[in-house]
Amino acid sequence: MRMFDVYPRHDIEFVRAEDVWVWDAAGRRYLDCYGGHAVISIGHAEPSFTQRVTAQLARVPFYSNAFANSLQEEYAAVLAAASGYPEHRLFLCNTGAEANENALKLASFHTGRHAVLAVRGAFHGRSSGAIAVTDNPAIQAPYNTGHAVVFVPLNDVDTLRAAFATHRFAAAIIEGIQGVAGIREPEVDFLTELRALCDHTGTMLIVDEVQSGCARSGDFFAHHRAGIAADLVTMGKGMGNGIPVGGVLITPRITAIAGMLGTTFGGGQLACTAAIAVGEVIASRSLAENAARVGTVLRTALADIPGVTAVRGRGLMLGIDTDVPARQLRAALLEDHGVITGGAGPATVRILPPLTFSTAHADTLAAALRTAISEIHDHTHSIGRHA
Ligand code: PLP
Repeated sequence: MRMFDVYPRHDIEFVRAEDVWVWDAAGRRYLDCYGGHAVISIGHAEPSFTQRVTAQLARVPFYSNAFANSLQEEYAAVLAAASGYPEHRLFLCNTGAEANENALKLASFHTGRHAVLAVRGAFHGRSSGAIAVTDNPAIQAPYNTGHAVVFVPLNDVDTLRAAFATHRFAAAIIEGIQGVAGIREPEVDFLTELRALCDHTGTMLIVDEVQSGCARSGDFFAHHRAGIAADLVTMGKGMGNGIPVGGVLITPRITAIAGMLGTTFGGGQLACTAAIAVGEVIASRSLAENAARVGTVLRTALADIPGVTAVRGRGLMLGIDTDVPARQLRAALLEDHGVITGGAGPATVRILPPLTFSTAHADTLAAALRTAISEIHDHTHSIGRHA
């Protein structure tokens, strides 16, 4: 059987990983500035994580939600301390899309409404509801359409007000920091106004922290910076450091009714153990503070590089625009410098490393970028001379 080939892949397979490094089969080492797409939060194969997950695997890897599972409460206590939402309730699932799907359903259950406000450039996942609030018709099947979704441009307060004046929304959904859109931050004024409009109209505010959460931005959740609270916060990616875990933090104003949500695997023992280990390492090693500090150092270093035209984001979630094609630059970083990065459109290189990334790693990345951009400039000029 062959794979259903939907992923454009690099022809490199990793056989070993440790902290911010991964190795291919030929023994070549790469600096991971991509974190397997923001999934590796506390570093590859972090020793305490590996020890706890393997011990749980040997004990009880999984049993269904039909039976008690004290690890779920243990994780809820870890999140209560870290998240700034001690009174919210926790629903555990498996992926970011599933978290958003459930958050949208809860908002609709609670308000009895259908329509949802979303933001231009948004990415919330590929399940039916999540894709409906994603601003990319190219990945939307005919089956996914027909939802009542109003998109507004990010940070356009007037259009936001006009949308609320003409619709009754179940929910407004927004990323803590937009990832796929090229690392774009909601401004504090926009978030404050969105919160106020939701309050006035009884709309549930969902903040999608699937990519920007788990300390990546330098705060546990990126929206903390704006001083607003969400009714529903969705999580995934970095929550399990590679073990699939997703979750929704739910305002106590929404009443849980038996059977209204459910999932076979969500909150299984292995997943909970992984999430607990991640939460404890983020706290004990002050990884939010590290992300903030190293992110600031990195931004300063990047801004000095000739050819870098913009740096967006915060903490260890950065988008770098340059005057060379992002695809060419990322290929040069990978092949010539052993540095793995992410993409976000034709002009942006996305940086999402493990949160253990140090200032020394930041220096290595900045030096590689400087050389790679300069070599592409030289190459382009020499082609120009010989053309
Ligand atoms: N929300 C955001 C902001 C994301 O970046 C992603 C994935 O990239 C998702 C949701 C979907 O998560 P998953 O792929 O785990 O379903």
